[in-house]
Amino acid sequence: MTMAITARAAEMSAAGLDIISFSVGEPDFATPPSIVESAHTALTQGQTKYGPAGGIPSLRQAISDKLLRENNLRYTPEQVVVTVGAKQACYEAIHALIDPGDEVLIPAPYWVSYPQMVKLVGGLCRVIPTHQNDNYKLKPDALAAAITKRSRMLILNSPNNPGGFCYTPQELRALAQVLKQTDIVVLSDEVYEKLIYQDTVFSSFAAAAPEMFERTITINGFSKSYAMTGWRIGYVAAPIEIAQAIERLQSHMTTGPTTFCQIAALTALQNTAEDVEQMRQAFAQRAALIHQRLTNLPDVTSVPPTGAFYVFPDVSLWYQRLGVAGSVDFCQRLLTEAHVACVPGTAFGCDNNIRLSFAADIKQIETGMDRIKTWLAKYA
Ligand code: PLP
Repeated sequence: MTMAITARAAEMSAAGLDIISFSVGEPDFATPPSIVESAHTALTQGQTKYGPAGGIPSLRQAISDKLLRENNLRYTPEQVVVTVGAKQACYEAIHALIDPGDEVLIPAPYWVSYPQMVKLVGGLCRVIPTHQNDNYKLKPDALAAAITKRSRMLILNSPNNPGGFCYTPQELRALAQVLKQTDIVVLSDEVYEKLIYQDTVFSSFAAAAPEMFERTITINGFSKSYAMTGWRIGYVAAPIEIAQAIERLQSHMTTGPTTFCQIAALTALQNTAEDVEQMRQAFAQRAALIHQRLTNLPDVTSVPPTGAFYVFPDVSLWYQRLGVAGSVDFCQRLLTEAHVACVPGTAFGCDNNIRLSFAADIKQIETGMDRIKTWLAKYA
């Protein structure tokens, strides 16, 4: 569904219409030059052969070092598997652990791909609704109430796509308290880790709740933090048996990620702190602007984004006035009539909402928000 709106917006642009897109899921920045340069060098030096299935040793070591240094997580390089994006890491972790009939707990709003991945391996999704009053965060009570005998995994994503929130270490600990009495494994998707705003503190789940370390699969990647979506490099860090199972699976699925992209990823970890911070600051400024513009819209309620590059307002008070059935119709009408592309919340399990990505520059944000305001005013 997210891709469908982007594709329709692209078609309209190609037909000459001026479309403002708030639908993209990737940074609008170029990959930092030092990363590109290191891939060039790797290519000219002949780094064009198959590599080990779990990733090149230097990158696995560098990720292991990074996890200790930045996240306070102690994984050996053998416990780290480099993957074709964080997406493959999520899929492989689910494939490795979920048998047909096993239940996976997924708080909504959720990233579109999780339920599909669970279904692909024959697992059952148990979606746990959340509330805007709680900033769409999963609460311990709701988690406890959702657990059944078949529950095998909980998927946590912080900073969150599409919710734009980030769990505090205390909130993560409170969830871990509930999980303590179970044998549920946590898949912690931390791919937006570097994109946090205001006074947000990021914590890896297993660092906030060390007692869960042996039952946590930590996932991260280079796409969002380093503007490297097309390079397709991510990673998973897990207890050794799980990491080995994922590595075996991967050896038959992709043989391993692209060799010279892994060398570029190594450079990303070593040499780009300034680039990352500049992008983060730009996103922080946009987060504040788009939220301020949203709060000025009548009957639209929204939580200030503190992580990732999305904001997820509730627009359902407009459905009746517009004569639309839900978020899909809302987004289609918005695109057709106001030439602004957003993603329907139903794609993320919340039909009252729409997702706006602020991977767009300030001028686009201002113009897009002006258009939404004018469009809604016609139906007020
Ligand atoms: N996890 C979340 C929450 C995402 O939003 C995305 C991309 O949109 C991914 C994982 C996948 O990222 P990658 O490009 O590393 O596969």
